[in-house]
This record gives sequence, C-alpha cells and structure tokens, in this order.
Amino acid sequence: MSLAFHLALPLFFPYLVHTMTKKNLKGLNLTELQVFVEELGEKKYRAAQLYGWLYAKAAQSFDEMTDISKDFRQVLSQISCISNLQLVTQSISTDSTIKYLFKLNDDLAIESVLIPSTKKSPEEENRLTLCVSTQVGCPLDCKFCATGTMGFMRNLTAGEIVDQVIQVQRNSQKRITNLVYMGMGEPMLNYENVMKSIDIINDDHGLNIGARHITISTAGYADKIRQLADEERPVKLALSLHSLDNDKRTKLMPITKKFSVDELIKALEYYYHKTRRRPTFEYILFDGFNDTAADVRSFIKLSRRIPCKVNLIPFHSISFMLPSSIGASLKPTPAPRIEAFADALRKSDITVMVRGSSGQDINAACGQLAVIESKTKLKIAEGLL
Ligand code: SF4
Repeated sequence: MSLAFHLALPLFFPYLVHTMTKKNLKGLNLTELQVFVEELGEKKYRAAQLYGWLYAKAAQSFDEMTDISKDFRQVLSQISCISNLQLVTQSISTDSTIKYLFKLNDDLAIESVLIPSTKKSPEEENRLTLCVSTQVGCPLDCKFCATGTMGFMRNLTAGEIVDQVIQVQRNSQKRITNLVYMGMGEPMLNYENVMKSIDIINDDHGLNIGARHITISTAGYADKIRQLADEERPVKLALSLHSLDNDKRTKLMPITKKFSVDELIKALEYYYHKTRRRPTFEYILFDGFNDTAADVRSFIKLSRRIPCKVNLIPFHSISFMLPSSIGASLKPTPAPRIEAFADALRKSDITVMVRGSSGQDINAACGQLAVIESKTKLKIAEGLL
C-alpha cells in the first residue's frame, strides 16, 4: 500500500480506520520494523530511523520524530502507536533506591527497582542497576516470595520489558548501566520476550547496555539454562538456589518437583563448561533451615564442581505469608551467623557477597504484595551490582 493510500484512508473509510487495532511499534526489532515499513511501501532506511527514535532516543510519540516527514508520521499514527508504560508512583528510599510502579495498558501493574551503587571506587560510582519485571505475578509460588502469592496474570511483552528501562531513564535522567531480570515473574517462562528485549536493550543502536551488564535470574528451569548456554548469549546467569537439599528446596520452591537440585546442578555445569562464565547462586538464609554446617559443606562441594559466586541474602518480614505455609515458619538467620556462614565459604575460596538492607524502608509505599516482594528482590538484585 502506498503512502498516498494511507493518507487517503481516513477520508474514504473513516469507520475502518477508527476500528482498526493499531500496531504497537514499541517492542518490534529492526527486522520487524523493516517488514512493517516495506508493507507501507516505504524504504528500508525508515525502519532504522524508527528503531533509533523508539529506543536510542526514547521517543514517546511520533511527533518527536522530527527527521521523519509529517506525511509519514501521519500515516504512522493512523495505523500504529507507541505504547508507553504509565508511571503511577515512585518511592525513594533513604539509601536512594527508587521503586517505580507502572500501569500497563490493560490496567495491570508491575514494579521496577532502580538501585544505585553502594561501592565507592571511581569506576563503580556511576553504576546504576535496574531490576525489571518479566511477568505480571508469577506462577511459581516460592514460599518466601509475595509475588508467588499473587498468582500469575500474564507475560510481559518485549516492549513492556524494554519500556521499563526507557521510562526509568527518562524519569531519573540517568543512564542505566546494569540490568537484572529479577523483578516480578520467572524470566525463563517468558523466554522469547525476555531474549527479544535483551537484543534491543543490548544493541548499540538500541539502548546500548552491554550484555555482560545484564543478568537473568531463574528459579530453576534446567532446560532453559541449557538453551541459554547453547545460544551463547554473553549475558550473566543467576540461580535462586536457597537450598542444596532437594526436599528442603521443594518445600521452599515447588518448581524443584519439576527440576530437581541434581538436574539444576548438571544444567549449570553444562552452562559453565559451555560459556566459561561463573553463575551466581542467590541464597536467602533461614534460621536453622538452610544455614547449618552441613549446608556449608554442600556449598563447598558444589563450588568444586562449578566455579561460582554466592550472594547471601538476609531474610526479612514474612507477614504476608499464609499461616499454613512453610513461609510462616521461616525466620531470618541472625547477622553474626550470616557472617560466619560467609566466612566458612570464603575459606574455601568461594566469592561471597553478603547483602545489606538497602531499600527496605520504601516497601510500604506501594501495594502490599508487590511491596513485600520487592523487599526480597532488592536484596537479590543488589548482589549482582
Ligand atoms: S521468587 Fe521469583 S520465581 Fe519465585 S515466586 Fe517469586 S517471582 Fe516467582
């Protein structure tokens, strides 16, 4: 169809234009944009222009695309749109962490968390990490996580994932340097959209965030860990481990019934040998549950099989838990024992980080479930800074 045809469309078929579902361009990659513009009878270079405006220049509307002719912008706005996340609230912590609550087009909500560097060296000072969501809710029902109690609503589109980065950069007027896929949802259950978003975010002509500054965190999809290794994407990988004992982990994370600890470790071994990148194990310490000498020994044994990094995460409030759930009986390991656990691992040459409590004070600012969820997520995300 020619440009002239599209311009004439509303004159002759106003009802048709009104009822057509507009194509959302945010989330399309360059190839898809090329197909889109060619179908409009336009030259391929238009796609590169659109791509640059959508991602590198973060345009919120066609009006901002000043080097594209008015006629073409008019056509674009008749048949397509740029769908933007709506910022509902932002909560700022005393430690400068910012939690954003976004509304999606179907009125569902997600959160993203912006975490400044707590490290003081000059090269780390400018580090700014965004923790993004990949699903609305989550079907995995991990017992220490409030998102799990929300149930699963839907996957986010690639555009909605990318837009969290765009909107936070616009709002904060700062460049995000690091990205962690560990907001609401399990990224491996939305694999295609997650990978598509990474391609756009990582692209020099997109958002230009280096792949080595992007971490995907999974609750334990062994098949997807292998797929990620086979695809040789240079992104980093983190596993929410929380116990090496299969029975205990099943109690905490029902996904363990599908992929056992043993299967997970084999998948991570495969990942390490294929990519030579050390995975990070996230480990929330629960008093008397997964913080014993036996747990230390299991970890040391594991590190001999897979060179790894470990993030130890203090556990916080579980007031959102149902009384019948195991989550209600979980208590935080006291700080001195967390340090002792870390020291024991360090003595075996394991790289260990112990997370603090930054961002904790802003959790009450938004809806309760998402708020409490972020409490855990913040700790985990910090571990990857
Ligand atoms: S920890 Fe992650 S995977 Fe588990 S329920 Fe929460 S969001 Fe889902």
